[in-house]
Amino acid sequence: MRVVVFSAKSYDREFLGAANAGRHDLVFQEPHLSPATAPLASGAGAVCLFVHDHADAAVIDALAGFGVRGLALRCAGYNNVDLAAAARRGLPVTRVPAYSPHGVAEHAVALLLALDRRIHRAYSRVREGNFALDGLLGFDLYGKTVGVVGTGKIGACFARIMTGFGCRVLAYDVVENPAVRALGATYVPLDRLLAEAHVVSLHCPLTPATHHLIGAAALARMRAGVILINTGRGPLIDTAAVIKALKSGRLGGLAIDVYEEEEGVFYEDLSAAILADDLLARLLTFPNVIVTSHQAFFTHEAMTAIAETTLANLDDLAAGRPCPNAVKA
Ligand code: NAD
Repeated sequence: MRVVVFSAKSYDREFLGAANAGRHDLVFQEPHLSPATAPLASGAGAVCLFVHDHADAAVIDALAGFGVRGLALRCAGYNNVDLAAAARRGLPVTRVPAYSPHGVAEHAVALLLALDRRIHRAYSRVREGNFALDGLLGFDLYGKTVGVVGTGKIGACFARIMTGFGCRVLAYDVVENPAVRALGATYVPLDRLLAEAHVVSLHCPLTPATHHLIGAAALARMRAGVILINTGRGPLIDTAAVIKALKSGRLGGLAIDVYEEEEGVFYEDLSAAILADDLLARLLTFPNVIVTSHQAFFTHEAMTAIAETTLANLDDLAAGRPCPNAVKA
């Protein structure tokens, strides 16, 4: 089957190409999927999409018109696809529900440790010959309370690592995970988690219920000096409210791998361009903010697993078989 792979980078060619082993005709296209780029899928049996590809109702109608019979997401989240529109047009949507939850959880831990121990500042200081410690004071994670919001696959891995550090883990989820309770974590209402945690890490999906979950009201309930980590999705956090809390000192630190307006910025080399996003530019001025470019998933193991599952999903789409990784509308 001919498959047009949108938002393709060199690493997509490498990993998808290796997993494909010649079974499908993969056509790699750099642009994101949008109404303007949908015609690139003309004649394809399926499209393969990533987090910044938009498959809204208009795009799905266009894809169906070009003969596309299915959408294979090479990611876990599917908030960028109008599932109802896809169902109306009879287009199955598949995803990669789990690849390496460990890699994402470990990245969240890396962000937390770097922020707490000021590794990002120490790294550049010593390279300039400044070996002073002023401004680098951190705190022990041992004995601290860590709040995990969303305790699915990634949240559970993160909670396990935090218990290994000797932290007390408070958890919040709409569905409790017995494996997380078995770690010794305590499920509490979100308000209590926010009030008690020294560190809050977000691992829930982006849904209407979780949009701006951390806004002015939540920030006001949080412990002064709290560290906030977001490897979930950008809009879980109200960026303007978080900037205010950073300016007032209420928020002790912020480390994000995802950002509300990351599209068009993350995954691109803009080092020679003027950053047009004033909120992102402001965030980058804080010494206690770390931003990574949606890279938490980016490990060898995860890329291999993503490619293999995506190709298996494409096999099912090509054969017209039900796919175990189909997303329900
Ligand atoms: P998962 O489905 O295993 O777990 C998500 C958990 O969130 C579930 O337990 C669910 O019950 C819970 N949840 C749903 N609505 C909630 C709400 N309103 N409040 C609290 N909890 C709620 O998913 P996962 O594999 O653990 O991934 C979690 C999220 O991480 C994904 O949705 C995706 O957005 C994000 N992610 C980011 C990266 C990255 O590279 N930064 C990579 C993979 C996934």
